[in-house]
Amino acid sequence: MTTAIVTGAARGIGAATAKRLATDGHPVAVIDLDEVAASLTAEEIVAHGGRATAIAADVADADSVRAAVDRVAAELGPPGILVNNAGVLRDNLLFKMSETDWDTVINVHLRGAFLMTRAAQAHMVSASWGRIVNLSSTSALGNRGQANYAAAKAGIQGFTKTLAVELGRYGITANAIAPGFIQTDMTKATAERLGVSFEALVDAQVSQIPVSRAGVPDDIAAAVSYFCRKEAGFVSGQVLYVAGGPKS
Ligand code: NAP
Repeated sequence: MTTAIVTGAARGIGAATAKRLATDGHPVAVIDLDEVAASLTAEEIVAHGGRATAIAADVADADSVRAAVDRVAAELGPPGILVNNAGVLRDNLLFKMSETDWDTVINVHLRGAFLMTRAAQAHMVSASWGRIVNLSSTSALGNRGQANYAAAKAGIQGFTKTLAVELGRYGITANAIAPGFIQTDMTKATAERLGVSFEALVDAQVSQIPVSRAGVPDDIAAAVSYFCRKEAGFVSGQVLYVAGGPKS
């Protein structure tokens, strides 16, 4: 089975995705800023009989990305699957948004996905096979207080479609998943910023979600797993909204 890389896999959606791809039989590189936290995900995978290695890397830093992808190829084998999941929030209304908050979000999501994909695609092209899955968001459609994040997540969609066009001839597909409200540390931080309890935020969100529940990381991991399958090879350049309804 081909090696998978999941970025931002120490927790949340990334951790669930890493575990799901390991269950599907892939050796998994668990990449995150914090190696100790990434190790917890990798150890869990190994404890369940899978193969995984934890690697500390900042996806927004070109040298760090090059070194990480080289290490993945050396320790687990050439990567054939890449899930660009690492993300941060720096929410604020536009008139209060600092340049640093703008740059941080654009760098981690967009520059990070660009650098990771550029490094990983070389291995996929050599193998004439690859699967790239990028995490967008329903915020790409516009969300108050998230001008930076919405721009990055809309950018991810254009990036994904271009990867599909350029890399399709090498047996590589590229798709994006746009989650709605998923219960993770990221949405807990949103509750804190809004000055409401997490339970109150979940209740408010659920009242707007057609399936009447909040999303969990495994909901997204299942969609990633589908795009990474061999039989999904004719599905490329798509954006799948996983939001419990047509929009969040
Ligand atoms: P999360 O719980 O905050 O986890 C994100 C992970 O990414 C963290 O472990 C974080 O590490 C890591 N990370 C941040 N910057 C990084 C960098 N420069 N290099 C490497 N790793 C980095 O977030 P999540 O909720 O699971 O979200 C995962 C993805 O789904 C993100 O792209 C997010 O935008 C997207 N998404 C989430 C939701 C939702 O409702 N949760 C909805 C739509 C889209 P640290 O902890 O050290 O910062």
